[in-house]
Amino acid sequence: MLVETFTVGMLSTNCYLACSQDKEVILIDPGLDFSSEAKPIFDRITAGKLKVKFIVNTHGHDDHVKGDALFQQKLRVPVCIHSLDAPYIEGVEKGKFPANVLLEEGSLIKFGGETLKVMHTPGHTPGSICLVGEKLVFTGDTLFADGIGRTDFLGGSMSALRGSLQKLASLPDNLIVYPGHGETSLIGREKITNPFLNGNSEDVLF
Ligand SMILES: [Zn+2]
Ligand SMILES: [Zn+2]
Repeated sequence: MLVETFTVGMLSTNCYLACSQDKEVILIDPGLDFSSEAKPIFDRITAGKLKVKFIVNTHGHDDHVKGDALFQQKLRVPVCIHSLDAPYIEGVEKGKFPANVLLEEGSLIKFGGETLKVMHTPGHTPGSICLVGEKLVFTGDTLFADGIGRTDFLGGSMSALRGSLQKLASLPDNLIVYPGHGETSLIGREKITNPFLNGNSEDVLF
């Protein structure tokens, strides 16, 4: 799986194109603040003759979903989001483009020869998910390089996030972490350096 990153919006959200070898792709977290930010993404899709199969949201916050409607209008593909975060997206789109594939723990997202498995990782939001592949994991705002998502927004829960981080720590060390903001990392690296995964946080997790 090839991953291309587009940093979008005023909160510098990582929007990803996850590409299979046969050019079927999914668009993850198109949280645009300006429609002009869609152009390089559309240009890449057109130039690469990529076929977008799904738009997938790691969670329902604005900075990850604001471009959903624009891309859905143009691409005519389903938007996928965990059922617990679907209400956020309906609010954002005023019911015009409701989430049309509801994801749960264990749901499989298949495109080309690739499969990503949904890991439900509540805490940052109730319906936050990570997308787990053979060699990588998209972690949304649950896990960042050396950090974790905030839990002080509506629906956030530190105790739920603890459980979610434990689930992530059980993944293979060599998985590349593609977070919702900031640099990529590795699960193994985070287990050593991330205070929330290595037990050095003041708020001891494990
Ligand atoms: Zn968020
Ligand atoms: Zn975010």
